Amino acid sequence: MRKLPPMTIAIDSKLPHVGTTIFTVMSALAVQHKAINLSQGFPDFDGPEALRSRVEYYLNSGFNQYPPMAGVPSLRQGVATKVADLYGAQVDAEDEVTITAGATEALFCAIAAVVRQGDEVIVFDPAYDSYEPVVLLQGGRTVHIPLKAPSYRPDWDQVRDAITSKTRLIIINTPHNPTGAVWQAEDLAELKSLVVEHGIFVVSDEVYEHIVFDGVAHESVCRDEELMAQSFVISSFGKTYHVTGWKVGYCVAPRALTKEFRRVHQFVNFTVNTPMQLGIADFLAEHPEHHLGLGAFYQKKRDFFCELLVGSRFSLTPSGGTYFQLLDYSAISDADDVSLAKQWTKEIQLASIPVSVFYADQEIDPREAGDARAAGRPKVLRFCFAKDDATLTQAAEILCSL
Ligand code: PMP
Ligand code: GLN
Repeated sequence: MRKLPPMTIAIDSKLPHVGTTIFTVMSALAVQHKAINLSQGFPDFDGPEALRSRVEYYLNSGFNQYPPMAGVPSLRQGVATKVADLYGAQVDAEDEVTITAGATEALFCAIAAVVRQGDEVIVFDPAYDSYEPVVLLQGGRTVHIPLKAPSYRPDWDQVRDAITSKTRLIIINTPHNPTGAVWQAEDLAELKSLVVEHGIFVVSDEVYEHIVFDGVAHESVCRDEELMAQSFVISSFGKTYHVTGWKVGYCVAPRALTKEFRRVHQFVNFTVNTPMQLGIADFLAEHPEHHLGLGAFYQKKRDFFCELLVGSRFSLTPSGGTYFQLLDYSAISDADDVSLAKQWTKEIQLASIPVSVFYADQEIDPREAGDARAAGRPKVLRFCFAKDDATLTQAAEILCSL
């Protein structure tokens, strides 16, 4: 076997500061050290049997060739119906809904569709890690607004001050990963007044739209006609149906934006695998109780996990949505969160996600993240509670022993 010859052309990286994502790093470390993995966000239980059997049906019944570029009509219609039922928005399944390879692809296409060289894009820190690299690839620049603990809600005066003539896009995420913060109607009203006045686009990452707790409503951008007119709303079936590995998501956007979105989508992924789209479409139509009950399902898990931690030395504010819980470890350790997350994975076999890597002045590559950079950040780690009760009990026993 011959090895590839050494590289002779110098590569000038487009993303010199980007390393492997923290999710990949921590999950690999968890596997290596046989740790309980509460780091990367995925359930340790399967999606509904009825959903899997619909996919199996299509897989075994000859539905294995390219579907339409924008997604199978039944799934696009299913999304349009859901958005109408839940948020009162009338969207056209033909021209305003696109099925994507997870929310990640949708985020890429939406950002690429509108951001050009020199544009500024406002993001809120801690920010999900896929936003900034895509902005940079378009020649844009991110402007970071910090969200302050413990509420992690935006300071709208700060957002207003950050807007310049170059601001092209604001990326929002509610319920918020990694903090679990949930925006209120006032936040959407503030956002709307700014983006309408300044002609700014919005990418609204709503992948946890159905995972909101304590009777609070999810404030989707889809609820507001005027805001929706300049927004891309993105979600993921991976979260909703406990099938993160299927990588099926969608983008809802007005006709003109969808047109630009699809110009990119058709050359990024072209389309998304057929049997899963058809299976999800059937399940969405036949089992709306699934997504309608998801908040209660995960609230029970949040409460179970948080109650197990009563008496531990961690302090916490219960998560308002998502399947993540932040735990403040400042009473236990002075270490920075990156070092501690790694140390605990190796030494006490429990993996979590350090939150400092989602801030602007942090190197994205966690392997290069030094103590000094993380020092000024809240001493919090993110734990995923989308796990069986037995897994959560085991994890909590470890945490209570610290
Ligand atoms: N946005 C947020 C906030 C997420 O947490 C995730 C993934 N968990 C995604 C986007 C990507 O979703 P998908 O796996 O469907 O690509
Ligand atoms: N969104 C998931 C999380 O926050 C991870 C997705 C990924 O690994 N790309 O944990």
